[in-house]
Amino acid sequence: MLPDNVLCFCIVGTDTDVGKTVVTAALARAAVTSGLRALVIKPVQTGSIPDAQGNLQAPDLALCREAAPGADTHSLLQFAAACSPHLAARLEARYDGKALTAHNLANEINRTVREWGDAEVGRKLVLLEGAGGLLTPLGASETLGDLLALLDWPVLLVATNRLGAVNHALLSLEALHSRNLSCPGFIMTEAQEARSELEQTIRRDNPLITASLGKKPCLAELSHLPNLKAPDLPDREVAWDQAARELAPALKAVGAWQSASPKTSDETDVLRFDREHLWHPYTSALHPTRVWEAASSSGSRIRLKNGRELVDGMASWWCAIHGYRHPALMRALKAQAETMPHVMFGGLTHAPAVRLGRRLLDMVPAALEHVFFADSGSVAVEVALKMALQYWQAKGETRRTRILTIRGGYHGDTLGAMSVCDPENGMHSLFSGILPTQIFAPRPECRFDAPYDPASEQAFAEVLTTHADSMAAVILEPIVQGAGGMWFYHPGFLRRVHALCQQHGCLLILDEIATGFGRTGKLFACEHADIEPDILCLGKGLSGGVLTLAATLATRNVAEGVSQNGSAFMHGPTFMANPLACAVAEASLELIASGAWRADVARLEAGLRKGLSRCAHQPGVADVRVLGAIGVVEMEREINVERLQTFFVTRGVWIRPFGKLIYLMPPYVATDDDIATLCSAIHCALAQETWR
Ligand code: PMP
Repeated sequence: MLPDNVLCFCIVGTDTDVGKTVVTAALARAAVTSGLRALVIKPVQTGSIPDAQGNLQAPDLALCREAAPGADTHSLLQFAAACSPHLAARLEARYDGKALTAHNLANEINRTVREWGDAEVGRKLVLLEGAGGLLTPLGASETLGDLLALLDWPVLLVATNRLGAVNHALLSLEALHSRNLSCPGFIMTEAQEARSELEQTIRRDNPLITASLGKKPCLAELSHLPNLKAPDLPDREVAWDQAARELAPALKAVGAWQSASPKTSDETDVLRFDREHLWHPYTSALHPTRVWEAASSSGSRIRLKNGRELVDGMASWWCAIHGYRHPALMRALKAQAETMPHVMFGGLTHAPAVRLGRRLLDMVPAALEHVFFADSGSVAVEVALKMALQYWQAKGETRRTRILTIRGGYHGDTLGAMSVCDPENGMHSLFSGILPTQIFAPRPECRFDAPYDPASEQAFAEVLTTHADSMAAVILEPIVQGAGGMWFYHPGFLRRVHALCQQHGCLLILDEIATGFGRTGKLFACEHADIEPDILCLGKGLSGGVLTLAATLATRNVAEGVSQNGSAFMHGPTFMANPLACAVAEASLELIASGAWRADVARLEAGLRKGLSRCAHQPGVADVRVLGAIGVVEMEREINVERLQTFFVTRGVWIRPFGKLIYLMPPYVATDDDIATLCSAIHCALAQETWR
């Protein structure tokens, strides 16, 4: 975070030689004259001049010091050749090229501003003078625009007032917009005296038509000041005074713009309260990791309070499968809210639950006949485990109390669900002695897309055979292990597990909370193996990411077993079968039943394969895999999540990595462009090694 009361701006030209250095220097003079402390930063200075000791000096900063003797100046990298930074760096024999990345420069600039801001008192202004135009290359894969996106400071655009200025200015404004960079307006300079009446007319019109088409105000116009052309010309003080006077309105507009911008008090209040009082998933209350304030969402986009729009790669932990605020889901929600938002399910029933139950039974494997509505995925898993245990108790096989699963799984955060999560990357060590002890077989190493290797089932078969008498159920995520490692295993393994369960009379629980409703390219992942479970857990996409709802479905055999001798099933949450959630879920399943998801998921799969394939050769990448609408880049080492996520947000994408995994599970409505944007953000992060 930058210190409060420091106003930071970037000054960027529409091209080289548009007068951006004079504008920066004159703004610094105007700032100092009005009592501000000012710092001018030149991140990369090309065309630097050696001093008497042979050290390169930044001529642009010398000009700032002349115009505003009270201002501080700082230059990060200097190169002798007067050309684009990427080329100037290459021409420099002593330069190894490492520091000239957007990420390194952004870090260095933020550090400089923090130190300077902490040391200075009063109101402060930082002006960062870019190098050339917005798309000036920094290196083979980055431009100045990438640096600005990382900094996320507002940009003042400088255009020189001549024929062609409008085109250049509008292109630059578009490029700023596409990077989500805010721009309070532009400044027009006059590089030369107008030589004809038509030229004068053009110059009067340019700011007006640019403002009209670019929808940004012209904040100031700087006259042609020939005395500023060379350091030895006379009357430069007078010229600087005039320049500062002419640019003062721009400075005022920038100050007013910042105090009106949504990044100020409103946002900081929300974030401050959040930081001090609200617990976030898997974080410390005292040292929370960074969060961003979301303001609205629509389709495949999340809009932050600061105005930045993000392409969503997560479908909000995989549940918003139809995108945000899908009209059909919103209609169902509103209609149900008008009649009955909630009513207890004990002793009462309602049409939304019945309609949803019907739809579900039409979709799921035929053997499943009974539905228990739960209020979250974890609870659906608890319900499934309880069903299995109660089934054997009711049948008199009281020794069957253990659950068998495979390593690398994830089934939720409640105690029972946790007991079957991977014992190493799950939370077993924190709760050892409290969690029920379950039995774990190794994760099947045979990949989804490799020929089936029967060796991958051997250990599982041995464990099940050894413990068959005490085994109540096997629980698995079919085909895709999600939060436990994003691993895609071979359907042959699942087929064998099913057969072994039948052989040993053990119930099979499939947790399709993440994989259900099309995510893997089949409606349910168990279809890859052509098997049916005894108990099925569904959640996430069930209610399209609008309300929390899950379901545990059971076969007739399981239901009869649990209910034998007049037994009741002992579970009944307050919000069971909440009518709002059921109505929305019915709308969600209606969309699924239309079948459009098949083409969408196939399209996303192709886009993810294309977009992520080039990540495989980046340093530190261990594996790249894609299945259905799931794309995974597995790194060799743990990722610096906060750093990487900050980078992603500045690139305009929402991707939340964990452990060694950067993955995408976008909503099915994501466009091909969205997928390309998400994949290229990951590629760029890998190329710049932002994840380390
Ligand atoms: N099972 C699986 C396979 C999951 O992916 C999840 C959630 N990531 C859960 C269970 C738990 O669901 P919830 O977060 O809704 O409790």
